[in-house]
Amino acid sequence: MMKALLSRFGTARSVAIPDDLWNAALAALPFVTRLSVEEHARLRALVERLLADKEMAAAGGLELTAAMLVHIAVQACLPILNLGIDWYRGWTSIVVYPTEFLVPRAITDEAGVVHEYVEPIAGEAWDGGPLLISWEDARSGRGEAGPYNVVIHEFAHKIDMLNGDADGVPPFDRKLHPALDCARWTAVLHDAVDRLRAELELIERELPPGIDPDDEAADPYYAHLPLDPYAAHDESEFFAVSSEAFFVDPARLRDAFPQWYALLAAFFRQDPATR
Ligand SMILES: [Zn+2]
Repeated sequence: MMKALLSRFGTARSVAIPDDLWNAALAALPFVTRLSVEEHARLRALVERLLADKEMAAAGGLELTAAMLVHIAVQACLPILNLGIDWYRGWTSIVVYPTEFLVPRAITDEAGVVHEYVEPIAGEAWDGGPLLISWEDARSGRGEAGPYNVVIHEFAHKIDMLNGDADGVPPFDRKLHPALDCARWTAVLHDAVDRLRAELELIERELPPGIDPDDEAADPYYAHLPLDPYAAHDESEFFAVSSEAFFVDPARLRDAFPQWYALLAAFFRQDPATR
């Protein structure tokens, strides 16, 4: 799919993105526009490499265009700007759906009964398998409801899964991350998750009776949280959601979780709040 779409721009190993597609993608993503000229050049080389390496396929009747591929790949490559394309190794496919899509789920309750249901989702990263994404969500880059970025979220999960299960602790490289160690990372991460959960509980306790926490009417109450409440789900979601905020709304994350922000800056080897 990718090769067919971009074949007129280059060979399979090196896709050359035309200037108009590149400029359109940057203009639509304000948090990428702020990069320096030198960073833009390196980002572009990474995007060209990602587009050559990965197979991108459409699902659900979507017609993928080269502009869409570049738009997604620019967001995907921002987290690895100072890490390298190797951090997306071990998997090949990106599947793009037109909007949120349904994924079959099964949970086993306390009585051992399996409940099957379908869940609408905007993106998902499978360990060792494809990365699935909704174009409607990937297109905006930033949702109306805050620093939401489904592309960075799912690619952060891929980085997290490089060293096994998604647990919020990505692998550290001795050369790239001399100051990072697992014990401190885990301690700061647990602390941050606990704090978010405590704030979330407080909000839920103060919700007026009659307002369902899952209902849109509850959104203004959750707006006081420094991060999307989904981050409180577990450590892996906290890592993915705070990675979105790190790149899209960094100052707010830095003010709310300064120690965690500093660790993310050391890990991604970037400090977006200073851009
Ligand atoms: Zn997630």
